[in-house]
Amino acid sequence: MNLEVRKPIIAGNWKMNKTLDAARSLAIEVKNKTLNFTDSVDVVVCPTFTSLAAVADVLKGSGVGLGAQNLYWEEKGAYTGEISAGMLVDAGCGYVILGHSERRKYFGETDADVSRKAHAAQAAGLIPFICVGETLEEREAGTMKDVVRGQVLGSLRDVTGENILQAVLAYEPVWAIGTGKTATPEQAQEVHAFIRNILIDLYGLEVALRVRIQYGGSVKPDNVKDLMAQPDIDGALVGGASLEADSFAKLVGYKGGDQ
Ligand code: 13P
Repeated sequence: MNLEVRKPIIAGNWKMNKTLDAARSLAIEVKNKTLNFTDSVDVVVCPTFTSLAAVADVLKGSGVGLGAQNLYWEEKGAYTGEISAGMLVDAGCGYVILGHSERRKYFGETDADVSRKAHAAQAAGLIPFICVGETLEEREAGTMKDVVRGQVLGSLRDVTGENILQAVLAYEPVWAIGTGKTATPEQAQEVHAFIRNILIDLYGLEVALRVRIQYGGSVKPDNVKDLMAQPDIDGALVGGASLEADSFAKLVGYKGGDQ
Protein backbone atom coordinates (compact mmCIF):
# COMPACT_ATOMS: atom_id res chain seq x y z
CA MET A 1 0.00 0.00 0.00
CA ASN A 2 1.48 3.34 -1.01
CA LEU A 3 1.21 5.58 2.03
CA GLU A 4 2.80 8.56 0.35
CA VAL A 5 -0.40 9.47 -1.45
CA ARG A 6 -2.33 10.13 1.76
CA LYS A 7 -1.36 13.36 3.49
CA PRO A 8 -2.25 13.08 7.18
CA ILE A 9 -5.13 15.27 8.33
CA ILE A 10 -5.61 16.30 11.94
CA ALA A 11 -8.75 18.18 12.91
CA GLY A 12 -9.85 19.71 16.19
CA ASN A 13 -13.53 19.32 17.02
CA TRP A 14 -14.19 22.04 19.55
CA LYS A 15 -17.74 20.75 20.08
CA MET A 16 -19.91 23.14 22.17
CA ASN A 17 -16.98 24.97 23.73
CA LYS A 18 -15.43 28.48 23.60
CA THR A 19 -17.07 31.87 23.49
CA LEU A 20 -16.22 34.17 20.61
CA ASP A 21 -13.22 35.76 22.32
CA ALA A 22 -11.88 32.43 23.54
CA ALA A 23 -12.30 30.90 20.08
CA ARG A 24 -10.45 33.79 18.46
CA SER A 25 -7.58 33.49 20.97
CA LEU A 26 -7.32 29.74 20.55
CA ALA A 27 -7.29 30.09 16.75
CA ILE A 28 -4.48 32.66 16.91
CA GLU A 29 -2.42 30.36 19.10
CA VAL A 30 -3.13 27.30 16.94
CA LYS A 31 -2.13 29.21 13.82
CA ASN A 32 1.16 30.34 15.37
CA LYS A 33 2.07 27.04 16.98
CA THR A 34 1.35 24.81 13.99
CA LEU A 35 3.17 27.00 11.47
CA ASN A 36 6.01 24.52 10.95
CA PHE A 37 3.78 21.53 10.40
CA THR A 38 1.13 22.53 7.90
CA ASP A 39 3.24 21.52 4.91
CA SER A 40 3.31 17.90 6.01
CA VAL A 41 -0.04 17.63 7.81
CA ASP A 42 -3.43 19.13 6.89
CA VAL A 43 -4.62 20.98 10.00
CA VAL A 44 -8.26 21.96 10.54
CA VAL A 45 -10.19 23.49 13.44
CA CYS A 46 -13.96 23.16 13.86
CA PRO A 47 -15.43 25.81 16.19
CA THR A 48 -19.10 26.44 16.93
CA PHE A 49 -21.23 28.16 14.28
CA THR A 50 -21.13 31.47 16.15
CA SER A 51 -17.33 31.62 16.00
CA LEU A 52 -16.83 30.50 12.41
CA ALA A 53 -16.59 33.89 10.71
CA ALA A 54 -14.29 35.32 13.40
CA VAL A 55 -12.00 32.29 13.29
CA ALA A 56 -12.02 32.43 9.48
CA ASP A 57 -10.67 35.97 9.77
CA VAL A 58 -7.88 34.82 12.06
CA LEU A 59 -6.93 31.89 9.83
CA LYS A 60 -7.03 33.76 6.52
CA GLY A 61 -3.81 33.16 4.58
CA SER A 62 -2.58 30.53 7.06
CA GLY A 63 -2.21 26.82 6.46
CA VAL A 64 -4.94 25.99 8.96
CA GLY A 65 -8.33 25.04 7.52
CA LEU A 66 -11.75 25.78 8.98
CA GLY A 67 -14.63 23.36 9.47
CA ALA A 68 -18.13 23.40 10.93
CA GLN A 69 -19.66 20.66 13.05
CA ASN A 70 -22.93 20.10 11.20
CA LEU A 71 -25.13 21.43 8.39
CA TYR A 72 -28.60 20.99 6.93
CA TRP A 73 -28.94 19.66 3.39
CA GLU A 74 -31.42 22.18 2.00
CA GLU A 75 -29.98 25.32 0.40
CA LYS A 76 -32.26 27.82 2.14
CA GLY A 77 -35.82 28.37 3.29
CA ALA A 78 -38.12 27.80 6.23
CA TYR A 79 -35.91 25.54 8.36
CA THR A 80 -35.69 27.45 11.62
CA GLY A 81 -32.41 26.93 13.42
CA GLU A 82 -30.62 25.25 10.53
CA ILE A 83 -27.56 26.28 8.51
CA SER A 84 -26.84 25.31 4.90
CA ALA A 85 -23.63 24.18 3.24
CA GLY A 86 -23.53 27.38 1.18
CA MET A 87 -23.73 29.46 4.36
CA LEU A 88 -20.76 27.57 5.79
CA VAL A 89 -18.75 28.28 2.65
CA ASP A 90 -19.82 31.91 2.94
CA ALA A 91 -18.51 31.96 6.53
CA GLY A 92 -15.12 30.69 5.34
CA CYS A 93 -15.38 26.92 5.86
CA GLY A 94 -13.68 24.30 3.74
CA TYR A 95 -14.76 21.31 5.84
CA VAL A 96 -17.68 20.02 7.89
CA ILE A 97 -18.01 17.21 10.44
CA LEU A 98 -20.99 14.96 9.65
CA GLY A 99 -22.61 12.08 11.51
CA HIS A 100 -20.66 12.53 14.71
CA SER A 101 -21.81 9.98 17.31
CA GLU A 102 -23.03 12.81 19.55
CA ARG A 103 -25.34 13.96 16.75
CA ARG A 104 -26.47 10.40 16.12
CA LYS A 105 -27.12 9.84 19.84
CA TYR A 106 -28.60 13.15 21.03
CA PHE A 107 -30.21 14.43 17.84
CA GLY A 108 -31.33 11.21 16.20
CA GLU A 109 -29.21 11.62 13.09
CA THR A 110 -29.40 8.60 10.79
CA ASP A 111 -27.13 7.27 8.06
CA ALA A 112 -29.66 8.53 5.51
CA ASP A 113 -29.39 12.03 7.01
CA VAL A 114 -25.60 11.83 6.89
CA SER A 115 -25.60 10.79 3.25
CA ARG A 116 -27.88 13.70 2.29
CA LYS A 117 -25.70 16.08 4.27
CA ALA A 118 -22.54 14.70 2.65
CA HIS A 119 -24.07 15.22 -0.77
CA ALA A 120 -25.05 18.82 0.07
CA ALA A 121 -21.61 19.50 1.55
CA GLN A 122 -19.80 18.28 -1.52
CA ALA A 123 -22.13 20.08 -3.90
CA ALA A 124 -21.15 23.31 -2.13
CA GLY A 125 -17.43 22.44 -2.24
CA LEU A 126 -17.00 21.40 1.39
CA ILE A 127 -14.98 18.35 2.40
CA PRO A 128 -17.02 16.30 4.88
CA PHE A 129 -15.49 14.34 7.74
CA ILE A 130 -17.92 11.42 7.79
CA CYS A 131 -17.95 9.81 11.23
CA VAL A 132 -18.72 6.19 12.06
CA GLY A 133 -18.09 4.02 15.10
CA GLU A 134 -19.59 1.39 17.36
CA THR A 135 -20.73 1.63 20.99
CA LEU A 136 -19.23 -0.51 23.73
CA GLU A 137 -22.36 -2.67 23.80
CA GLU A 138 -22.08 -3.30 20.06
CA ARG A 139 -18.39 -4.17 20.36
CA GLU A 140 -19.04 -6.54 23.25
CA ALA A 141 -21.99 -8.14 21.46
CA GLY A 142 -19.72 -8.88 18.48
CA THR A 143 -21.71 -6.70 16.08
CA MET A 144 -19.02 -4.05 15.65
CA LYS A 145 -18.25 -4.85 12.02
CA ASP A 146 -21.91 -5.04 11.00
CA VAL A 147 -22.56 -1.68 12.65
CA VAL A 148 -19.56 0.02 11.07
CA ARG A 149 -20.30 -1.50 7.66
CA GLY A 150 -23.91 -0.33 7.87
CA GLN A 151 -22.84 3.19 8.82
CA VAL A 152 -20.22 3.43 6.06
CA LEU A 153 -22.56 2.10 3.35
CA GLY A 154 -25.50 4.20 4.54
CA SER A 155 -23.54 7.41 5.00
CA LEU A 156 -21.81 7.12 1.62
CA ARG A 157 -24.92 6.25 -0.35
CA ASP A 158 -24.92 9.60 -2.13
CA VAL A 159 -21.15 9.87 -2.45
CA THR A 160 -19.97 8.81 -5.90
CA GLY A 161 -16.58 7.41 -6.91
CA GLU A 162 -15.71 10.84 -8.22
CA ASN A 163 -16.58 12.51 -4.95
CA ILE A 164 -15.13 10.11 -2.43
CA LEU A 165 -11.68 11.66 -2.78
CA GLN A 166 -13.23 14.92 -1.60
CA ALA A 167 -14.31 13.26 1.65
CA VAL A 168 -12.54 12.03 4.77
CA LEU A 169 -13.79 9.10 6.84
CA ALA A 170 -13.45 9.22 10.62
CA TYR A 171 -13.56 6.10 12.76
CA GLU A 172 -14.58 7.13 16.25
CA PRO A 173 -15.45 4.24 18.57
CA VAL A 174 -18.09 5.74 20.86
CA TRP A 175 -16.57 4.11 23.95
CA ALA A 176 -13.31 5.98 23.35
CA ILE A 177 -14.81 9.47 22.99
CA GLY A 178 -14.16 11.72 25.97
CA THR A 179 -13.49 8.71 28.18
CA GLY A 180 -9.70 8.65 28.17
CA LYS A 181 -9.98 5.08 26.84
CA THR A 182 -8.20 5.22 23.51
CA ALA A 183 -8.49 2.25 21.20
CA THR A 184 -5.11 0.58 21.05
CA PRO A 185 -3.30 1.22 17.76
CA GLU A 186 -4.03 -2.41 16.82
CA GLN A 187 -7.74 -2.16 17.64
CA ALA A 188 -8.01 1.03 15.61
CA GLN A 189 -5.98 -0.36 12.70
CA GLU A 190 -8.22 -3.45 12.53
CA VAL A 191 -11.30 -1.30 11.96
CA HIS A 192 -9.52 1.15 9.65
CA ALA A 193 -8.42 -1.75 7.44
CA PHE A 194 -11.98 -3.08 7.55
CA ILE A 195 -13.32 0.33 6.44
CA ARG A 196 -10.74 0.53 3.66
CA ASN A 197 -11.88 -2.87 2.41
CA ILE A 198 -15.45 -1.57 2.24
CA LEU A 199 -14.14 1.40 0.25
CA ILE A 200 -12.32 -0.99 -2.09
CA ASP A 201 -15.60 -2.83 -2.70
CA LEU A 202 -17.42 0.45 -3.33
CA TYR A 203 -14.89 2.44 -5.32
CA GLY A 204 -12.10 0.09 -6.41
CA LEU A 205 -8.59 -0.36 -5.07
CA GLU A 206 -6.91 2.61 -6.66
CA VAL A 207 -9.42 5.13 -5.34
CA ALA A 208 -9.81 3.48 -1.93
CA LEU A 209 -6.07 3.68 -1.31
CA ARG A 210 -6.27 7.45 -1.67
CA VAL A 211 -9.11 8.05 0.82
CA ARG A 212 -8.01 9.29 4.21
CA ILE A 213 -9.41 7.64 7.33
CA GLN A 214 -8.99 9.50 10.61
CA TYR A 215 -9.13 7.96 14.06
CA GLY A 216 -10.95 9.78 16.87
CA GLY A 217 -11.41 8.99 20.55
CA SER A 218 -9.16 10.27 23.34
CA VAL A 219 -6.29 11.11 21.00
CA LYS A 220 -3.60 12.85 23.07
CA PRO A 221 -0.03 14.02 22.48
CA ASP A 222 1.29 10.83 24.13
CA ASN A 223 -0.65 8.33 22.01
CA VAL A 224 -0.92 10.07 18.63
CA LYS A 225 2.39 8.82 17.25
CA ASP A 226 1.61 5.13 17.75
CA LEU A 227 -1.83 5.56 16.25
CA MET A 228 -0.49 7.45 13.25
CA ALA A 229 2.15 4.75 12.68
CA GLN A 230 -0.59 2.30 11.70
CA PRO A 231 -0.81 1.73 7.95
CA ASP A 232 -4.48 2.68 7.55
CA ILE A 233 -4.66 5.55 10.05
CA ASP A 234 -4.29 8.79 8.13
CA GLY A 235 -5.12 11.40 10.71
CA ALA A 236 -6.99 12.23 13.87
CA LEU A 237 -10.25 13.89 14.85
CA VAL A 238 -9.57 15.36 18.26
CA GLY A 239 -11.97 16.63 20.90
CA GLY A 240 -10.61 17.45 24.36
CA ALA A 241 -6.95 17.81 23.38
CA SER A 242 -7.84 20.33 20.67
CA LEU A 243 -9.24 22.85 23.16
CA GLU A 244 -5.79 23.91 24.25
CA ALA A 245 -3.25 25.17 21.71
CA ASP A 246 -0.20 23.49 23.23
CA SER A 247 -1.65 19.99 23.24
CA PHE A 248 -3.19 20.42 19.79
CA ALA A 249 0.12 21.70 18.38
CA LYS A 250 1.92 18.74 19.94
CA LEU A 251 -0.52 16.40 18.22
CA VAL A 252 -0.10 18.11 14.89
CA GLY A 253 3.69 17.98 15.30
CA TYR A 254 3.69 14.26 16.12
CA LYS A 255 6.42 13.61 13.57
CA GLY A 256 8.84 15.68 15.66
CA GLY A 257 10.83 18.77 14.73
CA ASP A 258 10.46 22.40 15.75
CA GLN A 259 7.42 23.45 17.60
P1 13P B 1 -12.14 13.27 22.53
O1 13P B 1 -10.83 13.53 21.82
O2 13P B 1 -12.45 14.29 23.58
O3 13P B 1 -12.24 11.86 23.02
O4 13P B 1 -13.30 13.46 21.43
C1 13P B 1 -13.18 12.80 20.21
C2 13P B 1 -14.21 13.30 19.29
O5 13P B 1 -15.39 13.12 19.49
C3 13P B 1 -13.77 14.08 18.12
O6 13P B 1 -14.79 14.28 17.22
